[in-house]
Amino acid sequence: MKEIRRTKVADILATPADYIGKEVDVKGWVRTRRGNKHVQFVALNDGSSIKNLQIVFDLSKFSEEELSPITTGASIHVQGEAVASQGAGQAIEVQASELEIYGTAPADYPMQKKGHTLEFLREKAHLRPRTNTFGAVFRIRHALAYAVHKFFNDKGFVYFHTPLITASDCEGAGAMFQVTTLDPADPPRKEDGSVDYSQDFFGKPASLTVSGQLEGELGATALGCIYTFGPTFRAERSNTPRHLSEFWMIEPEMAFYEIADNMDLAEEFIKYCVNYALENCADDIQFLNDMFDKTLIDTLKFVTHNDFVRLTYSEGVKILEESGKKFEFPVYWGVDLASEHERYLVEEHFKKPVILTDYPKEIKAFYMKLNDDGKTVRAMDVLFPKIGEIIGGSQREENLEKLEGRIKELGLTGMDWYVDTRRYGTVPHSGFGLGFERLVLFVTGMQNIRDVIPFPRYPNNCEF
Ligand code: ATP
Ligand code: MN
Repeated sequence: MKEIRRTKVADILATPADYIGKEVDVKGWVRTRRGNKHVQFVALNDGSSIKNLQIVFDLSKFSEEELSPITTGASIHVQGEAVASQGAGQAIEVQASELEIYGTAPADYPMQKKGHTLEFLREKAHLRPRTNTFGAVFRIRHALAYAVHKFFNDKGFVYFHTPLITASDCEGAGAMFQVTTLDPADPPRKEDGSVDYSQDFFGKPASLTVSGQLEGELGATALGCIYTFGPTFRAERSNTPRHLSEFWMIEPEMAFYEIADNMDLAEEFIKYCVNYALENCADDIQFLNDMFDKTLIDTLKFVTHNDFVRLTYSEGVKILEESGKKFEFPVYWGVDLASEHERYLVEEHFKKPVILTDYPKEIKAFYMKLNDDGKTVRAMDVLFPKIGEIIGGSQREENLEKLEGRIKELGLTGMDWYVDTRRYGTVPHSGFGLGFERLVLFVTGMQNIRDVIPFPRYPNNCEF
């Protein structure tokens, strides 16, 4: 091997003119090898792009024996001259002059060329990033994560880290995973037989967080505008294509924002992220569009080009009641809308993303600001085609008496630290939570949320 700096496949394919006529050094995994007795073509992928680089092996320079370890999945290092390609399908290819084989991939390599179902690949989640589909999904996921940080940074928001281990379940967002160092088979017990958590690691029961919002409010009422972006855990036995037990959540929280400002921010934020992916992941999105969902790009552009519809929960329920449609779950004022209801409004009635506001207080969390009608709260859910709820948020109750009243009504305890935000220098403020995987699901057009996170966690699955 000569002393040449390695070039990434994506860079070569992006500007072929810069490389043609030059010696290049490339490294990657073999997608396919085909050819005849005179010449062999290898499609090389190094993860930098959905596209492969074609490597041409002239059999007057390489023996068949030398090339025989180059099978799908093998890792190789090649040097040679980059030349304009004569074949259709690529502008540039590399005429190999040097070959080093890093690792072979025997015939039992599970990621053979094509035709694996997504279910099969989920069982091989440790190797599926090597496939075209998952390479595309995880590059898009990365770009969206970057877009999230860029969006908020450019707006002057502070990335505020909230804890993953918490001693409060006040969000009420779902069942929690317990965190303990006690021996489950033989925990210390109090006289009445119950577990003595004063001897546990934190001196009281602790769990993994279901939301960073309450701590986020502490940040917002000091720093002005903050956002969190971190893992969230919910021990719900919901085996749906939209729920994970471990997912990433983005939770902006803004002092001096009222519900309308909150809606504006949510809409601008989603559009920004989708647009960022369209502009920066064009090849990957095109691939997923062609592979899985021919309407994907149109759907994404539709979202970035159209205003979201805004209406109240009461108006939404009225539309559903008058739709004449037979739903699996009945619709009436006061019901927590099911995914089929949300999707009817978005996909059939308005054919646009919808922001529903002013939900009955009984079906929403205690911290949401009560409206003057005494019945509804200033909640907002952003509903998307195929996904249903992608964002849940609200204006928060900033009035000390009203908030304490709700806390008492619901019998919540250990909330003093949270209530202090209203006791001292309280301000109107708002925020929302976006499930990051629901955004990735939407942008990639994948059908199942388990396919947009590298190592999904769900009931009865904690592999890899
Ligand atoms: P859903 O009704 O869909 O179960 P939720 O109302 O419980 O959601 P929130 O507590 O409002 O969800 O959480 C904020 C956001 O987090 C949701 O809008 C959604 O995007 C996302 N989310 C909630 N639960 C999950 C989950 N189990 N897996 C992935 N994302 C989730
Ligand atoms: Mn919600």
